[in-house]
Amino acid sequence: MTTPPGSTTQRPTLMRAAVLHGAEDVRMEEVPIPVPGSGEVVARVDVASVDFTDRKVFLHGRHPMIKIPGLFGHEWVGTIAAVGPGVHERWRPGQRVVAANSAPCPPEADALCRQCRRGRQGMCENIQYNNGAFAPYILVPSRLVRMNLYEIPANTPPERVVLTEPLACVVHAVRRVAVHPLDTVVILGAGPMGLLWVNALRRRYGPDLTIVSLDHEDDRLAVAKAMGAGYGLNSKGGNARELLKAAIGRPDADVVVEVIGTVETHREALGLVGRGGTLVSFGGIAPGPTLPVDFGRLHYEEISIQPIYHHTPADVAEAVRQLVAGEVPVERLITARLPLSELRTALQMIGDRATLRPVLVPDR
Ligand SMILES: [Zn+2]
Repeated sequence: MTTPPGSTTQRPTLMRAAVLHGAEDVRMEEVPIPVPGSGEVVARVDVASVDFTDRKVFLHGRHPMIKIPGLFGHEWVGTIAAVGPGVHERWRPGQRVVAANSAPCPPEADALCRQCRRGRQGMCENIQYNNGAFAPYILVPSRLVRMNLYEIPANTPPERVVLTEPLACVVHAVRRVAVHPLDTVVILGAGPMGLLWVNALRRRYGPDLTIVSLDHEDDRLAVAKAMGAGYGLNSKGGNARELLKAAIGRPDADVVVEVIGTVETHREALGLVGRGGTLVSFGGIAPGPTLPVDFGRLHYEEISIQPIYHHTPADVAEAVRQLVAGEVPVERLITARLPLSELRTALQMIGDRATLRPVLVPDR
């Protein structure tokens, strides 16, 4: 490997990182600074982002993306500190990089799983997740180095690209959901993901698409309108169908995107889908709960339910491109900046809906 992180005559070997031990049990602990093995890269974390999935993982103490106990956090932008043996020569210490939180099968034909072979990398059966963004340094495993690590220009502020992973999920979804430019689309939820949806749809489909943002917080609805929604409706305590009817003259929509991730909001979203329309299930719910569905209505009105999860490397690359180019107003979404040691505060702020997206800066 090349020069290790922070190298002077005395190399630091420990760092204070967030370790998740179980439900509502996250601790800042002294752990070894990772050393890159074959094909691996270690990056200094310049900024990390805390998202609603992190909040869910923290509350429940389990998630398919993360081993517990273990290092925590999956959205980060950093600077390469060290590269292991065998890493491609294009990666060098000092480069600013962003990585996705996962890697599907590598491209060698005999190694591809069935889902990757059929072009569904987001459903990869051997997907490798990576965590450890809430730390001064993060190890990037070799498969992720090959499949989902991106250099960003040195003059790009790290905050501008730290939302690469969430944006990649939206890029992935918008690419797959059939929308007609004259459609009406309802986005149920005006958190950071819902706002990214609004912005992505407006940029892709132009001014004729009717975009309605539904939420319970007026300040979030104001951001939705600034990011491209034609209507921002506060559905707290109200009937969303009646609100829609009053605003746009019809009580339903062609596409309804559920961006919250509860059974109740999925029920509400399904009730807003009109004839020939689609419910996009974008907000994740832990497996278990069920919702009765009227298959007669589904059949005769051709209602589709399209769940969309995760992203592919092509989506991540496109998200990086959009963010570096300044096409997404991320400054409206990143609303708090805290030291890494304030991780619990950031998780609480998300739970209280007190901020849109907090980012963490490691204490040096
Ligand atoms: Zn695969």
